Amino acid sequence: MATNKELAELIFPDVKETVSDLEKRYPDRNLKEGAFVTRFAPSPTGFLHTGSLFTAMIADKFAKQSGGVSFFRLEDTDQKREIEGTGLDLVRQLKKFGIVFDEGYYGDHEEGNYGPYVQSKRADIYKVVIKELIKKGRAYPCFCSKQDLDELRLVQQANNVIPGYYGEYAKCRHYSIDEMIKFIKEGKPYVIRFKSKGNHLNYIRVHDMIRGDLDLAENDQDIVILKSDGLPTYHFAHLVDDHFMHTNLVTRGEEWLSSLPIHIELFASMDWKAPYYAHLPVIMVNDLETGNRRKLSKRKDKEAATSFFLEQGYPILGVKEYLYTIANSNFEEWLDGNRNASLDDFKLTFEKFSLDGALFDLPKLTNISKELLSRLTKEEFKEQCLSWAKDYDDKLASLIESDVNKFEKIINIEREQEKPRKDYEKFSDVYNKIEFFYNDNYDKLLKENKLPFSEFINVDVIKSFLNDFASDLDRTLNMDETEWFNAMKEKGLKHNFADDRKIYKANPDKYVGWYADCISLIRIAVSTSTQAPKLYDVLKILGKDEIQRRIELVCKTLD
Ligand code: GLU
Repeated sequence: MATNKELAELIFPDVKETVSDLEKRYPDRNLKEGAFVTRFAPSPTGFLHTGSLFTAMIADKFAKQSGGVSFFRLEDTDQKREIEGTGLDLVRQLKKFGIVFDEGYYGDHEEGNYGPYVQSKRADIYKVVIKELIKKGRAYPCFCSKQDLDELRLVQQANNVIPGYYGEYAKCRHYSIDEMIKFIKEGKPYVIRFKSKGNHLNYIRVHDMIRGDLDLAENDQDIVILKSDGLPTYHFAHLVDDHFMHTNLVTRGEEWLSSLPIHIELFASMDWKAPYYAHLPVIMVNDLETGNRRKLSKRKDKEAATSFFLEQGYPILGVKEYLYTIANSNFEEWLDGNRNASLDDFKLTFEKFSLDGALFDLPKLTNISKELLSRLTKEEFKEQCLSWAKDYDDKLASLIESDVNKFEKIINIEREQEKPRKDYEKFSDVYNKIEFFYNDNYDKLLKENKLPFSEFINVDVIKSFLNDFASDLDRTLNMDETEWFNAMKEKGLKHNFADDRKIYKANPDKYVGWYADCISLIRIAVSTSTQAPKLYDVLKILGKDEIQRRIELVCKTLD
């Protein structure tokens, strides 16, 4: 009767290395007590999903804050789903969010002593371990065809038993080694399966760093570990890679929690210590159609792709701060008390993680972003805005570059003060809000839009008030804000605007409007909109000649 060793040699005649050779090649990392080795392990199947950014950020944070190591591993064993070139895109997009791992795959090269960090380049390593498992009698070749497995599923459905390849249903585990050798020699195609010793009626206690102790059904599935294309499945690659790369904390999406018993059994089968696990909450949204919560979906939600935040010009820090609010329930409070601290100063903890799927909340991100943008100095704002505009908005980039000084003055209106104005949610708001300051754009706006003057104010009144205002700029533009305010009031009175709302409301026939209405006439005339920022500052930036030119143009359009 043939032995498992003979079977292993037959399947892997070329594999000469042993597990202990690998242990020597990938020695302990010798980090200090409590240092976490974490990894981000995406598959190259498209763009960087917001959930993946979240996972990447958390993995990197736990490593860095504990004095450990984070690395990037590309999980490209499902070559059917792979989209060429997206590994590099992932690295680049993460970098835009300031996430750079300590070692691993960098798109065009690798760094670190525990590689290769791309799974498709690790086929030889997986084979060493599989050979060992076969020798130990913990793995075997399975010759079942797709049709065999389909039939098995139907039988299991009909009998109302748990589906899968296990126990009595795992046909190939019951072949003798001689039979297996015979089939292989006959050239029958096969995959390699793990031979489970579990029983799903037993419960095992597992520990999740976020969720605590959990009792889960033991694994009894003889899962495929090596596919017919010579590459491992996720479960097996996780075992081998995280062992030899010395990951001691696996942070991954909660969708993997149900596979944890498989992973625990795999580690036990090799007598290896399993890492700590932290299953992170999945980011959810409220579905507008059904009203139910569901996972953030790449097909339905624009916020599912991190490129959305980049294109819209949300400040990078804002997006990260927002994701931290999803991660730890005490983060917002910390942020309120530590406005000027760096995110690196925040200590992320397992205890404060939210347990159920975290709800993605765009208005909240918007608030965080507004707050952040309002606190930038004019130079910081200019720098970040210009760098964004160069990538995403040529028109804005050329406005800024046409006169940097002017741009800084514009965005400095009610900035750099104790309670700065929260005008901007994201950099893509900037162009529309400031374009009226630029003469050519103003002319275009004037042509394209009907000025929103109040229909209750007679055109002659508007014109005479505006002309009076325009002819008196030498005097009024040099006033300080309070003086200017009083001067405008006086001018209003002269043109029969009441200086108080109550007075106007009590005698609407006696007046043409009240003070705020005449300020609004100026605002609309110089900006074409009722929304412009503080008028006193706007006028100072435009200057006398340009204000006069605009008033003249406006009066012409009223003729
Ligand atoms: N490649 C897996 C995924 O993209 C990684 C999960 C893990 O971090 O272990 O979901």
